[in-house]
Amino acid sequence: MELNVFKIIKNTKVEGFGNRFCIWVQGCSKHCKGCYASETWSFEPKQLIDIDILFEMIKNEKNIDGVTFLGGEPFEQVKALSVLAQKVQSIGLGIITFTGQNYDDLKQSDDKNLQELLKNTDLLIDGEFIEEKQDFSRAWVGSSNQRYIFLSGKYNEKMLSSYKNKIEVRINKDGTIFANGMGDFTELEKKLGLQRIYRVHKDV
Ligand code: SF4
Repeated sequence: MELNVFKIIKNTKVEGFGNRFCIWVQGCSKHCKGCYASETWSFEPKQLIDIDILFEMIKNEKNIDGVTFLGGEPFEQVKALSVLAQKVQSIGLGIITFTGQNYDDLKQSDDKNLQELLKNTDLLIDGEFIEEKQDFSRAWVGSSNQRYIFLSGKYNEKMLSSYKNKIEVRINKDGTIFANGMGDFTELEKKLGLQRIYRVHKDV
């Protein structure tokens, strides 16, 4: 079973609790105003990766505390992600899933795979990015409507207090710059004198 992947970072400190293996999925039909990740909207195959290969990559990555799914929209690829999440949890790692949808709507769905993904998620961060509600004061999120929903006992609200929004910047071999995490990317671009950082902005 394959997942359409936009990008993978094998170890980052700015996408959830501790060090995390992050998978940005390709494809999002939401098209929020002000989305900084329009590169992830298309559902055309970007990198189709078998979930068994992804699981091997995760197992081989030492010093990670968990896996984060972002996008794009993870809930548009529920079948592959629900199975991968279950495998990841079986080796004791936690799952954080971002979604542009509301938890209350997701709960109503009769899609079994979607419910499996919810079941196999430890922390869900829900809600679309709303430009008018932009707010970087909370960890990992970009607008004030977004919520942290703890779906298992793995993580809790108290743990959030030691986390703030941060941005990591990587310079790729081809000279492109990739920034991840959450914060004022426009300000960062100005400071670095760049027209645009190729980045993933998440609500997602
Ligand atoms: S902000 Fe997230 S949910 Fe909204 S369009 Fe962008 S990727 Fe999709």
